[in-house]
Amino acid sequence: MTDSAAWFERAQQVIPGGVSSPVRAFRSVGGTPRYVAHARGSRITDTDGRDYVDLVGSWGPMILGHAHPDVVEAVTATIQGSFSFGAPCPPEVELAEEIVRRIAPVDRVRFTNSGTEAVMTALRLARASTSRNVIVKFAGCYHGHADSLLVAAGSGVATLGLPDSPGVTPGVAGDTVVLPYGNTEALEALFALRGNEIAAVITEAIPANMGVVPPPPGFNQRIRDLTKANGALFIFDEVMTGFRVKDDGWWGAEGSAEGWQPDLFTYGKVIGGGMPLAAVAGSAGIMDMLAPAGPVYQAGTLSGNPTATTAGLITLRHCTPEVYDHLDATAASVASIVSAALNRHGVVHQTQSAGNLFSFFFTDRPVRTYDDAKTQNTKVFAAFFHSMLDNGVWLPPSAYEAWFVSAAHTDDDLAVIEVAAGLAAAEAVKQQ
Ligand SMILES: *Cc1c(COP(=O)(O)O)cnc(C)c1O
Repeated sequence: MTDSAAWFERAQQVIPGGVSSPVRAFRSVGGTPRYVAHARGSRITDTDGRDYVDLVGSWGPMILGHAHPDVVEAVTATIQGSFSFGAPCPPEVELAEEIVRRIAPVDRVRFTNSGTEAVMTALRLARASTSRNVIVKFAGCYHGHADSLLVAAGSGVATLGLPDSPGVTPGVAGDTVVLPYGNTEALEALFALRGNEIAAVITEAIPANMGVVPPPPGFNQRIRDLTKANGALFIFDEVMTGFRVKDDGWWGAEGSAEGWQPDLFTYGKVIGGGMPLAAVAGSAGIMDMLAPAGPVYQAGTLSGNPTATTAGLITLRHCTPEVYDHLDATAASVASIVSAALNRHGVVHQTQSAGNLFSFFFTDRPVRTYDDAKTQNTKVFAAFFHSMLDNGVWLPPSAYEAWFVSAAHTDDDLAVIEVAAGLAAAEAVKQQ
């Protein structure tokens, strides 16, 4: 038995399903997860001593690569003075200033420990400021595991083939309306029918938790127009895209260019550089409704702690234009190398991307909606995944996830990916 298999056996005795977050469990691809000993730059090493090119990056946060020396140094210096005070500290102010500087519509930032909490806070603000209850989301978009949004939530739920989660009350689910992604007519019809009940529309800036689905041109802007016309808020979830696709997120690529602004943003993943950190952000008018400035309660024992905000601050400061150029070029290279290997072996697939987010769907049709995404042949993905892993490439263990590159990925890594992709495509086609 491998060391990883032994750990997983122990884990299953004391942790539900053996994992701290469901998608890590390999349920949809079979086999047992590999336990990680350490990671550096673009490489991750398991407890059996095997080395992999990492295309997960902790599901997005490790934009500079693992254990970037400057981030490690700054965090190490910070923790000499303790991990957390439960009191205000300078790095949280500097990180908030950095975000306000980058995102023009943002005046205020409230830090949380997870994207889930940031989204919960955004919903509470939207309901408080509109005195309405209904939240509109799109099928396949994931916004964390808060009750009201765990409906048609993509990603982990899709990977495990679960129905929408038990434990969510009908009352809560009833205040959530789910529409097909990208469907402007459905959104218009809903507003015509129930416009005065809708507190907010929330969307992923780029849906990337059912695989990557590029937003149809004008779709996000149309959400903005409809919400504004009906007195509802527009919540732009940039937990995945924020500071990854561009220095001012996907809003910078689309909203800033087209001249529209959402009411609230949510951030996470990259802003913590691998530490538990996320944020809700927006104009002073809405954000100052939060306690203690206003009546909407929101809090956190560890929120804005010096360790996480230092990691985030130094990470963001290292995200230079050169880093974004490198991420864009590397993402394009990986996508074309893998797609070429799949084509060479006749594996039916779609390569989809938006900005430097990309993923592959093992299906014969372009994926525009969650229903399209579910037409995938997940057996083909499972075979591809295991062969990639055996040949030194660490992918998300799910057909419904984006792949992530970092500033630390090099041509050597691309060479490893190219060899592995050829071998994996040959295995995958056998399942077709
Ligand atoms: C990851 C993610 C979340 C949830 O963040 P957690 O920190 O895992 O709670 C919310 N929205 C989007 C778009 C995400 O990708």
